[in-house]
Parts: sequence; structure tokens; C-alpha cells
Amino acid sequence: MSESGGAMDEVFSEHPGTPESAVWLKGQLLRIASALYPDRRPVVVREWTDPVRLRDPEPVGHRFLFLVCAGGDDRPSSPGFDDVLHAFTAEGWTTHRRSSDHPGESRAQARREDFEVRVYEGSGPGLLTFTGWTPVVYTGRQSGRPRFTLSTVRGVLCDDCHGWGVCLLCGGRAYSGGSGGYGRCVCAGNNAGPGRCVECGGSGALTAKATSWVRKRYGLPDPDGTGSFPQVPAEGGYDSGTSALVAVSERPCACGEFRCFWRNRLTDADDRTLALFAGICQGCAAQRAYAFELPRRRLAADQVEDLP
Ligand SMILES: [Zn+2]
Ligand SMILES: [Zn+2]
Ligand SMILES: [Zn+2]
Repeated sequence: MSESGGAMDEVFSEHPGTPESAVWLKGQLLRIASALYPDRRPVVVREWTDPVRLRDPEPVGHRFLFLVCAGGDDRPSSPGFDDVLHAFTAEGWTTHRRSSDHPGESRAQARREDFEVRVYEGSGPGLLTFTGWTPVVYTGRQSGRPRFTLSTVRGVLCDDCHGWGVCLLCGGRAYSGGSGGYGRCVCAGNNAGPGRCVECGGSGALTAKATSWVRKRYGLPDPDGTGSFPQVPAEGGYDSGTSALVAVSERPCACGEFRCFWRNRLTDADDRTLALFAGICQGCAAQRAYAFELPRRRLAADQVEDLP
């Protein structure tokens, strides 16, 4: 952990109180990205925290997250997704390639102890991004670990159990005795079973039906489910897919939530290069999409001419 000493000093001076686990994780992501693209500086697109709640609104801890863009703009040669995973393995991570729901996109999960990274490459090929998170850092006594926090859930976090998957009234334990005689918690009388969160059935994430209900509450349609990139007007003003992603990651959804896992596609159409972004808001489950017109990228043919 001491190998990234320089980076640690930098981060500590910028953000006093950042835990060592967060500093270490950020260092790992930058190190792996640099190993893949030695001649390119990786970009920390965004760093944020997920609050961890129990019964009270006041968080009992936080998880620290980083979104790093390793490459994808004008890369001289794509290392290929297998090489990306090898770079993680070389640093002691275990990787699991996930089957992609969308053609041309690659995804994997990397784990090391209680740290996790979502590895993603857009189609085109598009951007190569790492989203990493630390174990929960508790402010007081450690209280186990929720199944999900806001950013790590695939879907929308259950707002009854805040991602824990257990009933927070009884802490997931079937009552025995207790103050009121029988003392069985309300959750025990439900088909969800003793201790499980009644709302999400113990999954920690809202069911498809509940998610659809959230969308209705916000007056939103359900997405078409094809996973295609919605057509939206292209914006200008960005010189690379990475800088466009930095802008996108700062934009909140209409509901106010910024957390969104962004898929990406780089495409040449009608003589212009477009960077497309699409994702599902982790607050209201809205389908979100942006398009950016980038300066025409260097074609492979130009690079061939440069060769002796
Ligand atoms: Zn729940
Ligand atoms: Zn209960
Ligand atoms: Zn939203």
C-alpha cells in the first residue's frame, strides 16, 4: 500500500479525513490504468461517497467511490479487454467477466478483499472505465455490511431497508420475547419471511414492479428494454469522449440524483464522430441519454500513412 506514497500525500492534503482504504483504491485504479496506457494520463472522472443508513436518516457510515477513465480517445492501440483484466490480475485482483447485455460492450467485475471494481468498455470501441468502491467505512461501531449502496446496486436501492435486504425494525432477526409479549416483528408475518425486508423481499433493490411504480410517481415512461441508445440532439464543446463523460457525470437527473452507470458508444455517422451516453438513473429509474459531437477522430488510414 505504500507504493503510491506520492499520490497518498496529494489526496490527503486535498481531502482531509479521506480513509486509507479510499486512497489505496484510487491509487490502484490509476496504477492499473497507467499500466494499460503508459503514454496517457488516466482521468479521475468523479469521486463521491454513498451514505449508509440504518433506521435513522443520519448515515452510520460511507462507502467511497471512484470513476476512472482509463482510455478510449484516440488510443494508439486498444489493449483489448482480456489485457485489461490481466492488468487487474497482475495487481492481485480476481476478475469475473460478465456476459454483456449489449453487443460491442464489455463488462467485468474485479474483487480484492472487500474492494470491488466494475470494469466497462463501451462499443466503438468507446471509453474504458473503472468504477471502484471501498468497503463501508463506519463512523462509529461497525454494523455489518449492506448488500448494496446507492451506486453499487443494479437498479434502484430499496428505500425501506436502504439496501440491507433485512427488516430494519428487527435487524433481520426473528423476535423472541421482546417488550410486547409475542414480540414477533411485522416482517415475520409476511411471506417474505422472518427478518427479510418486506418491500424488496430481501434483495436490497426494488423489484421491477416497484421500480415501474417509482417511474410512474415521477411521470416517466418505462424504457423500451432494448438497451439501444436513445436519439437525442448532439451537443458540441467537448474535444474528447473523456471530457464529455466528465461533464455527464456532473449532471444531475431531473430528480436530483447524479448516480448513474453510464454506458457509452463512439460512432462515426454522417461524417461526424459522436460520443453517446445512456444510463438508468439510480434515484428515479429514468432513462437518461446524452450525445456529443467530437472533433473528427483520426482514422486508422491516417495512422497507417505515418508508418515507415
Ligand atoms: Zn428492502
Ligand atoms: Zn422485522
Ligand atoms: Zn432520476
